[in-house]
Amino acid sequence: MTNPIPCFDVVVVGGGPAGATAAHDLALEGQSVLLLDRAGRIKPCGGAIPPRLIEDFAIPDHILVAKISAARMVSPSAVGVDMPVEDGFVGMVDRDVFDAYLRDRAEAAGATRATGRFTTLERDAAGAPIVVYEHNGQTMRAGARCVIGADGANSAVGRAAVPGKAKLVFAYHEIVRVPDSLPDAYDPSRCDVIYRGSLSPDFYSWIFPHGPTASIGTGSAQKGFSLRQSVARLRAETGLTDLPTLRREGAPIPLKPLKRWDNGRDVLLAGDAAGVVAPASGEGIYYAMYSGRLAARAVAVFLETADARALRAPRRAFMRAHGRVFRVLSLLQWFWYHSDKRREQFVALCRDRDVQHLTWESYMHKRMPRRQRGAKVRVFMKDVGHLLGLARS
Ligand SMILES: Cc1cc2nc3c(=O)[nH]c(=O)nc-3n(C[C@H](O)[C@H](O)[C@H](O)COP(=O)(O)OP(=O)(O)OC[C@H]3O[C@@H](n4cnc5c(N)ncnc54)[C@H](O)[C@@H]3O)c2cc1C
Repeated sequence: MTNPIPCFDVVVVGGGPAGATAAHDLALEGQSVLLLDRAGRIKPCGGAIPPRLIEDFAIPDHILVAKISAARMVSPSAVGVDMPVEDGFVGMVDRDVFDAYLRDRAEAAGATRATGRFTTLERDAAGAPIVVYEHNGQTMRAGARCVIGADGANSAVGRAAVPGKAKLVFAYHEIVRVPDSLPDAYDPSRCDVIYRGSLSPDFYSWIFPHGPTASIGTGSAQKGFSLRQSVARLRAETGLTDLPTLRREGAPIPLKPLKRWDNGRDVLLAGDAAGVVAPASGEGIYYAMYSGRLAARAVAVFLETADARALRAPRRAFMRAHGRVFRVLSLLQWFWYHSDKRREQFVALCRDRDVQHLTWESYMHKRMPRRQRGAKVRVFMKDVGHLLGLARS
């Protein structure tokens, strides 16, 4: 006799920030949830998170491995412009600890956990989804009324149920151990963001402190560009070559929300699987968690009403909240990351107090207060001045 397939209201595939948040919220609502994660690999990530995330998702202080008080923007000619954080700090997390914490929290809220690699989606006789996954060479199945695909960029759930192609940047970083006596160029409370075509022809490079370790990385969408050589050059230039390397790892980052996040029936994507990473910065953790929360809300409505139109709500709500910022960032990336001449101008522009204020406000709090409208106009005029070559850098 074959074992019956376990059935849940929802199977969430992927236990990163998006999936763990969706599973947590649904379990709290009293839905039966299976959180399936492939496990065994730490997500490659710079691990910078804004206060808005820490607040909205109640991240305890002990999960933060560093608190950052400034960003240094470095131009192609090595001019550094410091942008002190105006209020509060940027939190840094190690993704092995952070993701495990979020998954444990989802389990504590009532979600069932499973380890395994999603392979495909089947349907039962009534047409309901069955999630098929592999664990230790065995094929396992779990039934659901709804499936959330939060399995990252290149989502297998997306490929199986929600066709759509994301635009990707590939990012690579090396985790190094930071010694007690710090190298000259290194400040453990400052994130360095380096703009230079030879290090990244279309994105940027970074040095992000994580307490006893640091992430040194770069990104590019250009095929054939050697990210490894770029990071080696950056480490050599900043005197960080000899620090012990703990891990070398890379992953794609989607830079545009997909046009559709649901299959019109019973599958919904969230996080990187839905393409929600901010262009220009590559910030994705906050947006993954926010979209996971929206997915949980929509799925709860779907479970109650059986109306698949409920699954369209997350994309609409997300684009209403962040679509404009994503479009502006996309334009900024296209314009400013185009040549070293423009990168030089861009870094010079970062000296401007209005630019700094707006940048931090929108990054830290994910909002643009009404009283900033005058400043926005000034920044816009300066941007236009640069676009037209009218402003001096
Ligand atoms: C090098 C790099 C640096 C970055 N730096 C930052 C940063 O500093 N700040 C920031 O905000 N964002 C950063 N990002 C982006 C950020 O990491 C992602 O946007 C974020 O992790 C998305 O969360 P997610 O839950 O959607 O997907 P992921 O974090 O990718 O999680 C997906 C989960 O699904 C699981 N999974 C995948 N496939 C399967 C499968 N077939 N079956 C079962 N489980 C599966 C994985 O194990 C994983 O746990 C960076 C990205 C990269 C690559």
